[in-house]
Amino acid sequence: MNDYGMGYLFSAILGLAMGSFANVVIFRVPNHESVITPRSKCPSCKKYLAWYDNIPLLSFILLGGKCRFCKQSISPRYPLVELLTALLFVAVYWKFGPTLETIWYMSLIFILVITAFVDLDHMIIPQSFINAGLFVGGLGLLAFWDSRWISSLIGAALISGFLFLAGLMGKGMFHKESMGSGDVLLGLVIGMFLGWKLSIVMLFLSFLSAAVILLLLMTAKKVKTGMQIPFGPFLALGTLLALFFGDFFIHVYMTYIWV
Ligand SMILES: [Zn+2]
Repeated sequence: MNDYGMGYLFSAILGLAMGSFANVVIFRVPNHESVITPRSKCPSCKKYLAWYDNIPLLSFILLGGKCRFCKQSISPRYPLVELLTALLFVAVYWKFGPTLETIWYMSLIFILVITAFVDLDHMIIPQSFINAGLFVGGLGLLAFWDSRWISSLIGAALISGFLFLAGLMGKGMFHKESMGSGDVLLGLVIGMFLGWKLSIVMLFLSFLSAAVILLLLMTAKKVKTGMQIPFGPFLALGTLLALFFGDFFIHVYMTYIWV
C-alpha cells in the first residue's frame, strides 16, 4: 500500500476510534459522568463490557446488535456514530491530505458530532464542548498565523452575530427562546475554523437545511408547530456542507448567478 492509501486507512481507523469515544462523551457528559473511567457497560443489565465487545463497528456486527449477557438490543446509533465519524475523517483526509489542517478539521468534526447528538438528546450544548472548540480553534490560528486569522475572526463574528440577531428576532416574533446561547457560542467556534467566506455559505446552508428537513418532518407529522427544535444539528450539518462543498457553491454562485 502506498503512503496515500495508508493515510486513508489511518483516517478511517482513527475515525472509528474517535466515533467510539464520541458515543461515550454523548452518553456521559450530559449526566456529569467522567469520560475516562469506568469502562463502558450495557445500559440495560449494567454489566461491564470486555474489550472484545467494545471494538468499534465490529463488535456490534459480531454480537448481532445484542448485549452478550442480557440479549437486549443495542441501539444502532452507536455503530452509526462510529461509521459517520470514520467517513467524515476520511473525507477530511481526501480534501486536505497529510497536513496539519487535516488534524485540525478532524478535531472540529469530533466536536460537531458530539454537539449535534447531545443537542438532539438534551437540547443543550455543554460549555465544555465550546471551550474545547475555542481552544483547538485558537491553536490552529497560532499555527496558521500569517494566513488566516483575520478571516477566522470575521467568520466567528459573522456566524455568532447572525445567530444572536436571529435569536432576538425569534424571541420578538414567537415570544420564546428559539436560539440558545450555546448556538451563538458554537457559531464562534465554527467561524474560526471556516473563515469569513465559508462562514457565509455555512449560515445559508444551515438555515436552508433546517427549513427543508423541518418541512419534511412536519409533512411526516414527526414535528408539530410550537415544538422545541435543537438548532445545533443544523449548524453542524451546514458546517460540514460548507467545509466540503463550500468552494464549489461559491464557484457556481459567482459563475452563474452573480452578474
Ligand atoms: Zn446487557
